[in-house]
Formats: sequence, C-alpha cells, structure tokens
Amino acid sequence: MAFKLFKNDDEHFEDAVDLIKRKEYEKAMGALRKAKSKDKDGSLSAKCDAMEAFINLYNKQDDPGAYINAANKLKAYTGGPLEMGLSTFDPQKLAEECLLMSRTLNARNMPTDNPDASRAKGDRLTECARDFQTIIGNGNLTIREFFGGGVTVGMKESIALMAEANEAYAEAYAWDDPKKAAEYQQFAYNYRKQIGESGEKNLELIKKYAASATCWICGRDANGEGIHFYAMSSDISPCLRKDDGVLRSADEKFENIYVCRACYSSISRRADAISKYYYDVAQDDMRKMEARLQAEIASLQAEITSLRFQGFNHG
Ligand SMILES: [Zn+2]
Repeated sequence: MAFKLFKNDDEHFEDAVDLIKRKEYEKAMGALRKAKSKDKDGSLSAKCDAMEAFINLYNKQDDPGAYINAANKLKAYTGGPLEMGLSTFDPQKLAEECLLMSRTLNARNMPTDNPDASRAKGDRLTECARDFQTIIGNGNLTIREFFGGGVTVGMKESIALMAEANEAYAEAYAWDDPKKAAEYQQFAYNYRKQIGESGEKNLELIKKYAASATCWICGRDANGEGIHFYAMSSDISPCLRKDDGVLRSADEKFENIYVCRACYSSISRRADAISKYYYDVAQDDMRKMEARLQAEIASLQAEITSLRFQGFNHG
C-alpha cells in the first residue's frame, strides 16, 4: 500500500462530512473548499458549494444575505438529497426555507419611525406569516433545528409573525387613532395567547391606548397615555386635591399631573433650550479657565528652566 501524502477530493469531502457530524463547521468549510480545489472532473463542486453556504449559517442566522447566498448555492445543486450530520435535506426545499428566513429577517428589521413605515412593516410581516403557513405549514423549521435552536413548526412561526404584524399596525394607528391601535393590540394579544405567550405587553399597551385624561395645563382632553398625554411629576397640594375634577388631570396618588402632548413638548423644549444655554456658558467658562491655566503653566515652566540655567552656571 502506497503512503499517501496528499488527500484527493473525495477524501477531503469525507473529512467535511465527519466534521459536520461533529458540528465543527468552521473546519468543515475548510475541508469542503479543499475538496472543491481538487475536484478535477467538476463532479463535487456544486455539492461542496451548497454544503459550505448552508453550514456557513451556523453563526449567521440573523444575516439575510447569508440565507440568500445559501439559497442560491442550494438551488444550483441538483444532484439529489444532501446528507449533513444526522439530517438529510432536499436542497430545493431547503433553499425555499432559506429565502423565507431571509425575507422574514428583512421584514422584522424594517423601521417603525412613522405611520407609513409601520403599516408597510405590518404588510410585509403578514406576507411572511402567510408564507410560513403555505411553505412550511406543520413541518419543522429545519435550519433552526439543525443548528440546535430547538423545534418549531411553521404554523407557530406564522402565528408569531401575525402578532408582530398587528403590533406594527397598532403603532401605525397610535398617532392618529389610539382606539384603533388598541384594537390591533387586542388581535396581537390573541395571537400571542395562541402560542402560549402571556401577551402582557399587548395588554399594557391596550390599557395605555384606551386611557384618557384632561390636560392639567390647557384643559384639553387627550386619548392614549405616552403618546398624546404624559404623566409629569408634580406637587399637588391638599387644597388642590379637593377639586372634583382633579382626578381627570392627576393620578390617584396625587404624584403626577397629566399633560397633553402639546403642553408637554412645549415645556420640555423650553427646558432643553434653557439647559443648553447654561451648558454653553459653562463650557465657555471652562475653556477660558483652561487657557488661563495653560498660560500659568507655561510661565512656570519658563521660570523653572531659567532657575535651572542659573543653578547650572553657579554650580
Ligand atoms: Zn395641554
């Protein structure tokens, strides 16, 4: 038997299969690249590419681009089922799941900084929820499961996404129509209960959206705590507490008054402007003091130099 110094493509590939079984994905990717570089007849390259792109997801499961890359490489491999570790995958089905994961990540990452953006995010999340239902259904999310993320079926992910979609719609309406926002939070709450979650956050928001108060300062009515009116710390003296209407404008402990958004923002903007003025004055004073100290240091240094020089002459 001849001693073999260099492994051929099949041997590197076998190494990769073993390494994947041991979940040593970084090393497995190296072995797959070596197998590909030795693949003279081109029989292994597409398979190596597909496997490498897939196991590359082991620490990139929140990277939409990594899923797209895996989907492309998996689609390009048409040589039958792929065996990886203890699992056997249909590459085309796995590619579909990768694309769906990528779409979902992108939808979840969408901003909600204005009503239109929130609505668009809600629409995209709803589409993803529908796709999880039709593409994965009662099947498992195989990618998450393969990398040790636990077992979830497509239907459960679909319901979680419906909850998120309704939360995004609620955000879209919170600005204009807190009652409608509360309705969407109620839908989201129902979805969360279906998958065994508490929905506590939804209930909290329903309560806030439904809350109403009369502004202590201007007397306007406002719906939606934290959006259209705010609680502001205040000293409500016993005499003021006797007023019958006071609880419409203050909390039960008489620690906060309620203030509408317009009054609240005008007070906080004015306070910001005042503190910015004092900050600028303080900064200016500090700069002046620093310049004075620098000048003093420089004159002291000059004095030290001259004393040394004199000492040297007399010494
Ligand atoms: Zn007001």
